Amino acid sequence: MDNNAFYFKKINDFLAFLELPLAKNDCFSSSFPIQVPFHYAKKIEKGNPLDPLLLQVLPLEDENIEKEGFTKDPVGDQNATQEPGILQKYNGRALVISTSACSIHCRFCFRKNFKYEPTTSLPSRLDKWLASHPDVSEIIFSGGDPFFTSPSFFEALTESALRHKSIKTIRFHSRLPVTEPKRLEQLLSILKCIPAQKNAVLVSHVNHAQELDEESKTIFNTLRESGFILLNQSVLLRGVNDTVEALSDLSHKLFSQGVLPYYLHQLDKAKGTSHFEVSDSKAICLLENTRTELPGYLVPKLVREIANEKSKTPLC
Ligand code: SF4
Repeated sequence: MDNNAFYFKKINDFLAFLELPLAKNDCFSSSFPIQVPFHYAKKIEKGNPLDPLLLQVLPLEDENIEKEGFTKDPVGDQNATQEPGILQKYNGRALVISTSACSIHCRFCFRKNFKYEPTTSLPSRLDKWLASHPDVSEIIFSGGDPFFTSPSFFEALTESALRHKSIKTIRFHSRLPVTEPKRLEQLLSILKCIPAQKNAVLVSHVNHAQELDEESKTIFNTLRESGFILLNQSVLLRGVNDTVEALSDLSHKLFSQGVLPYYLHQLDKAKGTSHFEVSDSKAICLLENTRTELPGYLVPKLVREIANEKSKTPLC
């Protein structure tokens, strides 16, 4: 078996691997089942039920809590949809839902209830849409994970953006550098061909220093050498990274791998994620204390995304 292409898809297989007590109910009823790549599971400390990586991926009964304000469309994706798979929230930028798939299922995911559209004809739809929207200068490939697609589809999708002179910046949001870096390698030849005059940006999604390893460092180095600007965004998650120490360690380790911290997001209030919530007052206090530990360039901006607002909202 090629362990690098292996995913834990059953709770008790995952718990047994981690030498943790098995769950009574292995068939957790969820439309968003467990999925953890072996590469990520290896980074979880065995026998530790509070491991910060484990808490991001282990389904809990808490996901059934109904809490006011936690909805199926927390950031107004539906209202921002221009065409199936193409969203515009902010001036000059458009976001492409490249795929519904991810290598990992993060329990706090803001799109866990999103109604994904088929993507087969997305490259041609994007091409047409951009031709009639010359004011859009930046394309953001999101998902799902835009790197969790076949090389041929990925190439067609990126080309449909790159061929437009109006596109000056091409940005990818991905968790693959820490969840399945081997899989990303198959896209490197395409990513390396992005012309230098189109600013290529990778925004990695890393929430804890323990997620970063030698493989993520290698991928980041390769992309940096190919001209990519590397930024990171994190989500502030209760029990995972809601301490000054965890946030400072994350910033330092990102920087040691050539990545600058960009945003620290307050949790998007997706239905079934309320157990991860950190209050705004605690978040602000954490960031203010983190600021005293770090040089300014390693302090991310603490923001919340509010549906229908024309930019992210800074909290301090
Ligand atoms: S990688 Fe991103 S889109 Fe995919 S499950 Fe995690 S948070 Fe959601």
